Amino acid sequence: MLTQRQIKKIVQTPDGHVLWVGALANGYPAGKHEGKTVYLKRLIWEETHGPIPAGSVVTSRCGQRTCIEPSHLALSPPGRYPSVRNGRGRYAKAVPVAQVEDPLPD
Ligand SMILES: [Zn+2]
Repeated sequence: MLTQRQIKKIVQTPDGHVLWVGALANGYPAGKHEGKTVYLKRLIWEETHGPIPAGSVVTSRCGQRTCIEPSHLALSPPGRYPSVRNGRGRYAKAVPVAQVEDPLPD
């Protein structure tokens, strides 16, 4: 779950997005969880759906890079993003944004 402090850093838009306006890591929403910096999309995905398979990446289907609305998140299969291998969602080393995530095709 997001902390009270983190909840203050989200903005709900009229069209249903929940945009993160807090800290970013490699351009994506990031925050502290149990003492570690994590990608919030991964955190929220795991809390909603369970563990993320190793190598898989959580993306925003809606195309809003900072959107963390749970129903807008999607899991991309392993292999597509070789730079992201950390299945626990820890703060991975910096990689170009395009390698971390891009919107899924409709
Ligand atoms: Zn969205």
